[in-house]
Amino acid sequence: MLPVVSIVGRPNVGKSTLFNRLIGQRRAIVHDFSGVTRDRHYGNSFWNDTDFTVIDTGGYVPQDEDVFLTAIREQVHLAMDESDAILFVVDVETGITDLDNAMAQILRAQKKPVYLVVNKADNEERRWNTAEFYSLGFDQLFPVSSVNGSGTGDLLDALVRDLPEPTPVADDTYPKLAIIGRPNVGKSSYVNALLNHDRSIVTDVAGTTRDTINSTYEYEGRKYLLMDTAGLRKRTKVKENIEFYSTVRTMRSLMECDVAILLIDATQGLEAQDVRVLAEAERFNKGIIMVINKWDLLEKESNTFRDYVKEIREKVRMLSYVPVVSISALNRKRIYDVLPLVDRVLENRKRKISTSQLNQFLEQIKIERPLPYVRGHQLKMNYATQVKQNPPVFAFFMNKPKELPVNYRRYIENKIRDTFDFEGVPITMVFKEK
Ligand code: GDP
Ligand code: GDP
Repeated sequence: MLPVVSIVGRPNVGKSTLFNRLIGQRRAIVHDFSGVTRDRHYGNSFWNDTDFTVIDTGGYVPQDEDVFLTAIREQVHLAMDESDAILFVVDVETGITDLDNAMAQILRAQKKPVYLVVNKADNEERRWNTAEFYSLGFDQLFPVSSVNGSGTGDLLDALVRDLPEPTPVADDTYPKLAIIGRPNVGKSSYVNALLNHDRSIVTDVAGTTRDTINSTYEYEGRKYLLMDTAGLRKRTKVKENIEFYSTVRTMRSLMECDVAILLIDATQGLEAQDVRVLAEAERFNKGIIMVINKWDLLEKESNTFRDYVKEIREKVRMLSYVPVVSISALNRKRIYDVLPLVDRVLENRKRKISTSQLNQFLEQIKIERPLPYVRGHQLKMNYATQVKQNPPVFAFFMNKPKELPVNYRRYIENKIRDTFDFEGVPITMVFKEK
């Protein structure tokens, strides 16, 4: 896992502007993702051969005066717990405020490295004025203009010099399963149900990450690494903070895992946040399984499960290839049914289709549905090959790849899925000019 850098500071000092600048070169591949707002608060950055994750903690600012200070304090504490280094942003345009002082006090009292970033130092005069911020009690300060970029190089030089090496997620040899889902869907209950059983051998993987609880888990002779993102609630009071950090954690384990196991609560169904997580898992090309938990709470008739799955698949197109299983973590019903699915998805992810098979397939689907004429050109696709497995990537060589209609792409993907088994696995297809 990459080292984590959190940006903290009171509202309007320029945290999100700095955040955008730090992850700027990656902007194209970073999606909007947050449980609180649609804004982006999480991304990866790169400087002097060092990769790191940046979190912008500015997501939530309560309007209520009473809650305000508590919430801000809690945000700072959470940021400290979750990060390897902190960028504490202040604003030279407004000067030092009470809230700056309060935050500085909390930050000085802990051991993580803090970089005092005096933002909005856009010109020479403002850079001079940044000196007043030495009174906040940090040894060093970094005058920066997040808007024009000046000073950010020096800041990043200092920051990456002291960042720890990325920590491996325990033993890389086992498949990594991320147990994810909204708060209260039963993630901890499920992990505990799996772990507290004499058929399993549990090993706590100590010191791997601060935010996920990883355990190696053995079932019928096969070992897995379970990454549990729960456990935040106990020390957090402000609801929005819980949501924010559970989102951040979800993203981190999504990036690391081989298979994402998304839990939903049977009585609540699929919500917007779940769909976003599914989309992220697909974007990262992870294996995906959906588990409907709390199945015991539903009134059941003969086709309840079938109808339930049909309904959510109609709602979300990508679920058409995601295996779904219902369980009750509470009653331990079908909790082991997830593991054969995991194995199958892992197999599918590694599947290699030979070039001759694939080209036979291509000939067949072209007969079934000929490639269209687009703007006076007959589209031609002559050759296909699987360029990568685990996760699978297919390349198709054709004239005018930019003219290929989306519905033909979909047709190819559906046909690949019908013909070869890629259940639970996102497929990447690239179309190249030849
Ligand atoms: P946040 O609330 O801390 O995330 O602050 P924002 O990033 O939203 O910025 C607050 C305001 O400050 C916006 O109007 C920004 O355009 C402005 N701002 C941010 N960075 C700079 C800077 O380096 N120079 C100047 N002049 N304005 C800035
Ligand atoms: P997490 O926040 O996703 O880790 O959720 P928890 O595991 O803490 O569970 C939230 C609540 O749902 C707890 O009160 C659990 O007892 C309850 N719960 C979890 N699984 C089930 C289940 O299968 N059936 C029922 N009825 N309740 C469950």
